[in-house]
Amino acid sequence: MKLVTFTTKSKANPTPGVLINENEVVDLSALGHASILAFIEAGPQALEDARADAAKLARLPLSSIKLLAPIQRPPRIFAIGLNYQKHADESNMPVQKVPTVFMKLSGSVVGPDHPIVLPKISTQPDYEAEFAFVIGKPGYQISADRAMDHVFGYTIVNDVSARDIQLATSQWTLGKSFPSFCPLGPAIVTADEVPDPHALAISLTIDGETLQSSNTNDLIFKIPALVAHLSSLTPLEAGDIVSTGTPEGVGLGRTPKRWLKPNEEVIVTIEKLGSLRNRTVAE
Ligand code: ZN
Repeated sequence: MKLVTFTTKSKANPTPGVLINENEVVDLSALGHASILAFIEAGPQALEDARADAAKLARLPLSSIKLLAPIQRPPRIFAIGLNYQKHADESNMPVQKVPTVFMKLSGSVVGPDHPIVLPKISTQPDYEAEFAFVIGKPGYQISADRAMDHVFGYTIVNDVSARDIQLATSQWTLGKSFPSFCPLGPAIVTADEVPDPHALAISLTIDGETLQSSNTNDLIFKIPALVAHLSSLTPLEAGDIVSTGTPEGVGLGRTPKRWLKPNEEVIVTIEKLGSLRNRTVAE
């Protein structure tokens, strides 16, 4: 299933839904779910029931709704740095023996078609196409061979980064957490629909020009290794997002460097997950 959060003209509160046939949405609140996060927390039985019952619900055309981020405020957003070899090379940083992990603050999350606001304080705003997974079953000290049991599904993140703020110190979190710096969505695609998450084409375009193009088979630390590593340090919670890192082609790695400018259309596309489109605006 493709899980979304939406509003309509008559329903201003964020509402959980299921995207059907790419052009219709059913309202999951009709099955008693308050949000996609609550739905994930409800566990596998809720997913099974929704799979059986969603088809019976009334459908709204996609054109009549507004999509928001599928989870408005994820409990945590873990982000992995330097997880594609060519991106580590272009960043002039060595790949570490353990994953490089930083956080993106949940307040930076926005949905598809929401503007990316380029903050006045930065002269080096950059883009990063990323494949992300969503934790379903919580757990602490999860072994790599049980890791996939804890993955609920997959989504797209644009890990927008103010490079001058990010790289001013060794701590990256705040330079990657300005308001609107975490476009997320358009949907969370449940794990059953993605048999091999490590074989997905991933790309990013700006105004139609392809700037990043890779495949998740190039990930250095793959999902089982990331779940095992993170959960060896902190219990993972339902709804946590892990954004797995960006491939080469970011603005920082280009000659000359290429920063985001106002009024550009940035689209991240991942096979089986769809496209996440946002326009930049000046603060
Ligand atoms: Zn990143």
